[in-house]
This record gives sequence, structure tokens and C-alpha cells, in this order.
Amino acid sequence: MTSVLSVSGLTKLYLIPAGVVHAVEDVAFEIEKGHSVAVVGESGCGKSTLAMSILQLVKPTRGEIRLNGANLVTASKRDLRVLRQQIGVVFQDPTSSLNPRLKVAENVGEPLRVHRGLRGAELRGRVREVLDQVGMPPDAMDRFPHQFSGGQRQRIAIARALTLNPDLIVLDEPTSALDVSVQAQVLNLLQDLKEQRGISYLYISHSLATVEYLADLLIVMYLGRIVESGDADRIFASPKHPYTRLLIDSAPSLDPNARRLMRPPEGEIPSPINPPAGCPFAARCERASDRCRSANPELHITEQDHKVACFHPI
Ligand code: ADP
Ligand code: MG
Repeated sequence: MTSVLSVSGLTKLYLIPAGVVHAVEDVAFEIEKGHSVAVVGESGCGKSTLAMSILQLVKPTRGEIRLNGANLVTASKRDLRVLRQQIGVVFQDPTSSLNPRLKVAENVGEPLRVHRGLRGAELRGRVREVLDQVGMPPDAMDRFPHQFSGGQRQRIAIARALTLNPDLIVLDEPTSALDVSVQAQVLNLLQDLKEQRGISYLYISHSLATVEYLADLLIVMYLGRIVESGDADRIFASPKHPYTRLLIDSAPSLDPNARRLMRPPEGEIPSPINPPAGCPFAARCERASDRCRSANPELHITEQDHKVACFHPI
């Protein structure tokens, strides 16, 4: 099986006056064709840094990122320009990927004009097609982004991400700024597109509730590291890391009938600047022993593809 994306040993350290921020540490995973991988963890755990590293918007300190076999980290500028066209991007705030001064047709059509040289009727035809795929009417083309609701703008951003037929779409908190009812619509759209087009997703979210729909593989991050990964259904049914358990217990459900009160996870996350020697979750963990406070457990396989970094898994 060839992977669309293969990440290994990925580390990103930010040097700041107060010290070294360990934003992403030794992260490794693969995304197979048509699969979606969800990355979850609380704010500050390194999700966006991971996404930006994959997109080469920040330069990784160490590690390899392969897109259909080609290493993005060592690629020349020219090769990278071509390789990047195989990755679509959707950010939390659609206004950051849509230019407010350009009409929707120009926003969505720009990658086709720049990279494929499409013009005129051919360009408009293709833009109309992708807008239709995300459930936007043709007359949206001649309006400006601000004339739409948040959910509609995110659909337009998804249309833009689709234009070059990418193999992979990286979505960094794409529904976090939307109302719960609109979130579900956007998630359904992403699910439909995945089924119809066989696209792979790297879907990033601080909330487990939104990934239940979409994820094949689930990656849980804590303070820059993967603490648990594996088949999403299996992890939802029986998490092994106490941190994953905490996230599941504190996640609000998207189903209004089953909605529980959002209870933010308790306890403080240690600073990623000079992180503690032991397991970074030890201070918040009921199961922590002396060993956890002195050594950081490595990510290891428990069964099949299920991995956990914990000395006392559930
Ligand atoms: P998340 O997306 O999960 O909230 P981020 O990747 O944004 O996490 O941040 C991970 C850590 O790296 C945080 O401690 C954050 O403060 C730090 N960080 C992010 N970007 C920078 C930067 N440009 N310079 C210094 N520190 C940064
Ligand atoms: Mg982020």
C-alpha cells in the first residue's frame, strides 16, 4: 500500500528568548489513499505547527515528510511548487484563505489560473463545477466572500482547496469557528467528498466530537508528542491513554439529543519550553507512578496498529 503522506521523526523547535519551544517532537504517521487521519489535542499541543510543517510554511527542525514518495523537506523550490499543488488547505478562518477584495469566482479560480493557465469560459465552467460540489449555487460566483455566512464561506474555501484535484487536503480546525448545526453540515460535506473523490484528509481539531464522523485513523497529541494513535473507532470504544480518556469524557457531543455539558479537561498543561523530564501528562494523571515522573514513556504498539505512550495504559 502506498501512502499519500508519510511523516517520520518530525520535530519543530521554536527558539524564543525564554528558551526552546518543543512544539512538535518526533512525530511519525502515514496517510493512505482515501483515508482520513484526525489529529486531536488541546490548544498549544502542536497541531498547527504539524500542519504548517507538512505544508512547508514552517521549516521543520528535523524529520522527513513524503508526499507520494517525494520528500518535501529536501525538495527544491521549483519541485516544491509542483508538489504543493497536490495538497489542498482549509484553515479555521476562511477569510485567511479567501481574498476579501476578490469575487468568489476569482478566489476559487485562482489556483486554476495560476497553475493550469485556465481562462475565460473554461475557468468559469470549472469554478461552477467545484462550487456545485460543495453545495453553492452558480450565482455565488459574482459575489464577494463577506456576502456569505461563516458556513458558506468555509464551503467556498473547501471549493478552492478542491480545484487542483489534490490527493490530500489539510484541514486545521475547519469547523471551530462555526455554530454546532453548521459544523455538522460542513462535516457531512467533507465526508461526501471523501467518498466521491477518494481524497485523503489530515483533519486537525481540538475537539474529539467533530472527528468521530470523519476519522479512519486517530492521533492524539499532548505537548508536541503523539501519546496514542490507531483505528479511530477502536480508540473511541476503548482508549488506552488516560489523556485520551479525559478528552473523550470532556468532549461535547454534536448530536443535540445526546449533548452533554462541555467540561473542559481539568489540570494544567506543562510549558513546552524546557518540558519536564517524565511523562508530560503525569501531573494531571490519576494513574501516575514515580516512574512516570522520572521517565517519558515511548510510543509503542499494543495490538495491531494501536500505539500508546504510557507506562500504565487503561
Ligand atoms: P495548536 O495548534 O495545537 O494550538 P501550535 O502548533 O499553534 O499548537 O503551538 C504549539 C506550541 O508552539 C505552543 O506552545 C505555541 O505557543 C508555540 N508556537 C507556535 N508558533 C510559534 C512561533 N512562531 N514561535 C514560537 N512559538 C510558537
Ligand atoms: Mg492550532
